[in-house]
Amino acid sequence: MNFNYYMPVKIFKGPLGDYADEFAGYGPRALIVTDKSSSVNGALGDVLRVLGENSIEAEVFDRAEENPSVENVTEAARTYSPFKPDFVIGIGGGSPLDAAKAAALMLNDESADENSFYYPKAFPNGAKPVLAIPTTAGTGSEATPFAILTRRGGPALGKSSIPHLVYPEKAFLNPAYTATMPEQIAVNTAIDALCHLAEGYLSNKASAVSDMLAIGGITAFGLIRDRLTEKNFNEDVRAALLSVSTVAGMTITHTKTSLPHQMGYALTFYHGVHHGAACGVLLAEYIRFHPDKKKTGHILEMLGLQNSDEMKTWIDGLIKIDVTLSDGEIEDYSADLANRIGKTGTFPTEVFKEDFERLYRSI
Ligand code: NAP
Ligand code: ZN
Repeated sequence: MNFNYYMPVKIFKGPLGDYADEFAGYGPRALIVTDKSSSVNGALGDVLRVLGENSIEAEVFDRAEENPSVENVTEAARTYSPFKPDFVIGIGGGSPLDAAKAAALMLNDESADENSFYYPKAFPNGAKPVLAIPTTAGTGSEATPFAILTRRGGPALGKSSIPHLVYPEKAFLNPAYTATMPEQIAVNTAIDALCHLAEGYLSNKASAVSDMLAIGGITAFGLIRDRLTEKNFNEDVRAALLSVSTVAGMTITHTKTSLPHQMGYALTFYHGVHHGAACGVLLAEYIRFHPDKKKTGHILEMLGLQNSDEMKTWIDGLIKIDVTLSDGEIEDYSADLANRIGKTGTFPTEVFKEDFERLYRSI
């Protein structure tokens, strides 16, 4: 089968100080887009240090929201546009990393506004260079070109991936930064990475290369699944999860995500469920529903699970979401999804409204 594969992100793992030289060459001014926790987990301090070593001046926008909105990203870009940043450094979970990518687009186009994010032809010159430093181990955003933004009004209401691809130039992985994650965020983000791998492996855009990435990632995940069940996030487990998460990002860069993500966005947007949990609670039923039994069986086998029921019991033991969906909500979300992606998504067959409804009812 024909395929092409493009992965331009340079990936470095280990203490940031070992890679200080990698921050040179972009120009004398950097904008850091981050959240509050990066000043606690050590990442922000380390970045400011290596920038100082390279005589690079930095401004810090530390108000990146969870599930960043277009308004939030616009605020970051507009506030620091007079500083004329040469490049943007995203530090944090997927939210600040996505916000950094979107801000880097806007900083490269003075005429852009909030709507530009949704016009495929906007940003003809692309984005300022982005460097990404994850502090959660799950989204893989450091290796993907995607930025998922939230819109509270207008035609693109909800959470969606903007149509502009922004590959970080470099990603720096340091498991020391994920040590401070609250336990439930550590669990949710790990399950997000597993969703990326499974959805990538089962996507109709999968290829020989993305399959190898997915199989490698799921196998590595299987080796530490028991540690996750015990909620034992020791250094080795965190290091493994960070690599798994990046490989999962490389997988979905090629394959995109599928039903758990597409359906999970409504749980996050309307009910405030954390991203990884929103996708994770749908994973077992999606595996059961998927027609490629050879691949779904392989996923379960790599994870050491007998069947999708066992997967559901395992995930339900890790993730509890406090949401009751009304019949009307289930119908509305399902009708919208069937309309938008029922025929054109990454699932190998058409997905009907009733299918989405059944999946939502399984939560
Ligand atoms: P997140 O929304 O970035 O962060 C969730 C919470 O974790 C925040 O409250 C943050 O706290 C805290 N946190 C992050 N790192 C921490 C650390 N090291 N120590 C302590 N607390 C920490 O979570 P996420 O799951 O990583 O990202 C989810 C977002 O990524 C969603 O918007 C999702 O759609 C997106 N996503 C993007 C891609 C992609 O390819 N671009 C793929 C999957 C998901 P503070 O706010 O207090 O700092
Ligand atoms: Zn995800």
